[in-house]
Amino acid sequence: MADKSFLVQKFAKLPLNAVHVVGYSVAGEETVCQIPELNVCFDIGRCPHFALTSDIVCITHGHMDHIGALPYLLREFDGDPIPVYGTAFTLALLEGQLEEHQVRDRAEFRQVTPGEAAVAGPFSMRFLRVTHSIPDGMAVVIETPYGSILHTGDFKIDQTPLDGRATDLHALAEEAGRGVHLLMSDSTNAEESGYTDSERSVGPVLQDIISRAPQLVVVACFSSHIHRIQQVVNAARSDERVVAFLGRSMLQSVEAARELGIEWRSSAETLAETIAGARAQGLI
Ligand SMILES: [Zn+2]
Repeated sequence: MADKSFLVQKFAKLPLNAVHVVGYSVAGEETVCQIPELNVCFDIGRCPHFALTSDIVCITHGHMDHIGALPYLLREFDGDPIPVYGTAFTLALLEGQLEEHQVRDRAEFRQVTPGEAAVAGPFSMRFLRVTHSIPDGMAVVIETPYGSILHTGDFKIDQTPLDGRATDLHALAEEAGRGVHLLMSDSTNAEESGYTDSERSVGPVLQDIISRAPQLVVVACFSSHIHRIQQVVNAARSDERVVAFLGRSMLQSVEAARELGIEWRSSAETLAETIAGARAQGLI
């Protein structure tokens, strides 16, 4: 095997900025691994010049600080479409973004499922399920002649996630057994001890608040936080309320989740549809 210290030398050149700030974590922006024969861009929240050397892009999840700059990167490419690896929900979110910027034809989507492996040039990649505040997150292992790289993406160890898709700790243990030569990892509050409660624990609190509200309830949350939105919908339905979504990103995310069958049991509508329905019933 080639010199493994190569990976560490390269890692030292990567940007490590704004740790402690949500949306700007080490793994949360973009990390370009410049390995001879192949440059891999893991996620892309900004578009630095070194990202322009990328041969492939690997997106761990669909948060904007991981996908937001991809349209700007693709604008700079005028050759063959660049391979973009991601899970179904991540690529569904990207689809809308790239179409909006009219660069969809510059990306060649390669949909992967955690648990699968793929070959990229002279390297092999393995994709591992991780839980995060957005569905379909993954970690990526790349086997190179210089050693293996494990990029965890953003993650949360939630033992009882809403969709039942927990972080694949067994797969991570297997990778540890094989030997990881470069670990790239960060997670919100990583320096705090203890655990964050499961997303599932939010449901009863929402239900209590919504059931006690005398009138309209307005909930704000990240549009990509499908599991949180699901719990709001569940709480609203159990209180026989109608849910209306407001905002372009919110509508896009919800639609993508519905199409992929990500846990969704709702007759929820857009705000316009809700108002139209209410008018038709003479309620407005
Ligand atoms: Zn994230």
